[in-house]
Amino acid sequence: MKSTESNSYENDLQHIKKSLLEQKSEILNKSMEFKSQQHSSQKAADEADAVVQNLQDNLNIQLHERDRHSLLLIDKALSKFANGTYGICDSCGDEISLKRLKARPLAVRCVSCEEELETSGKELLQ
Ligand SMILES: [Zn+2]
Repeated sequence: MKSTESNSYENDLQHIKKSLLEQKSEILNKSMEFKSQQHSSQKAADEADAVVQNLQDNLNIQLHERDRHSLLLIDKALSKFANGTYGICDSCGDEISLKRLKARPLAVRCVSCEEELETSGKELLQ
């Protein structure tokens, strides 16, 4: 029943899943480092140091929030793998092309829905 083509599609999906799991553990490792940095960087010697410290903290937090966002998207993709809906467009229910999934494994919409959303939602997002 299964053609070689669908087998390679499955293989590709497994590759994507594996790389998502790797990304997830990388982010988790990084956020552990982030936490230990927070602990060791509490003391600022004088006011100038304190300003630099604040700037660095802000950078850290920004990075951290972006990572948190990535984690959410990765988890969402992984749960789609779990219930067999990975690669299905959230908006129209069509299959997202494998080419697109390989380039953007966290994509939840097909190209045309994404473009539509970007055009209509651009002002809202900014
Ligand atoms: Zn779509």
